[in-house]
Amino acid sequence: MKKTSSPTRRDLLASAAVVTAATIADTPPAAAQGTPKPIFPVPMITIPIVGETSVFQVRRIYCIGRNYAAHAIERGSDPNREPPFFFQKPTDAIQNVAIGEIADHPYPSLTKNYHHEVELVAALKSGGIDIPAEKALDHVYGYALGLDMTRRDLQNGMAAEKKPWEIGKSFDHAAVIGPIHPASKTGHFEKGAISLAINGTVKQSSDLSKMIWSVAEQIAKLSEAFELKAGDIIYSGTPENVGPVVKGDVLLCKLEGLPDMSIKIV
Ligand code: MN
Repeated sequence: MKKTSSPTRRDLLASAAVVTAATIADTPPAAAQGTPKPIFPVPMITIPIVGETSVFQVRRIYCIGRNYAAHAIERGSDPNREPPFFFQKPTDAIQNVAIGEIADHPYPSLTKNYHHEVELVAALKSGGIDIPAEKALDHVYGYALGLDMTRRDLQNGMAAEKKPWEIGKSFDHAAVIGPIHPASKTGHFEKGAISLAINGTVKQSSDLSKMIWSVAEQIAKLSEAFELKAGDIIYSGTPENVGPVVKGDVLLCKLEGLPDMSIKIV
């Protein structure tokens, strides 16, 4: 049987080339098109800056795990200076809390053991790869008070099964944060009291000087694994006595040198 009536592969390629050439000829040069507009606009995630009309745009949210010895022990790990470990939360997990406000914080789905973790947060104005600890604080724009909210039962359940515990840490509203204070005004935070109270009863109380890895060391270690950039923020770990919250609880977070931050679980 002869196949001369059907187009050959060569014919198809030739006609495709003509179509492609025509398409290219009809398309303006890239420079003339400007920046393409998103088909569905997505909000930019930002954090207010105290004393500035400009805001801090968030690129990535990094968190350090078990960075106070007493918390490392309560979570079942060796408090000795093991290398720090990190995880991320999605950028849009940010919940901004204004000074003087008691912000409603929704109790999330799926969990029956929802935990507070009060933390110092460092916000970067620049970054890099393999940043030496001695230079690391040059990259810090400022600091905030934060809560690394955690669905502890889901985190523990996934860890027990050797599965990623993302569902325990990375969910809507899980990155609660106060406004950023420029380091040019506050200085850098290497020591100072940090605490969290629920309904007036202090639950967590420690000092930043008890962090196993300082903010500078966290930046240095993180930059070995990731290229850090302006807009990255780092939750620097929580002290011991993490515990559950329930609907109706009012949480009051304190960090020496910054205004208080408060949320109500709803
Ligand atoms: Mn944490």
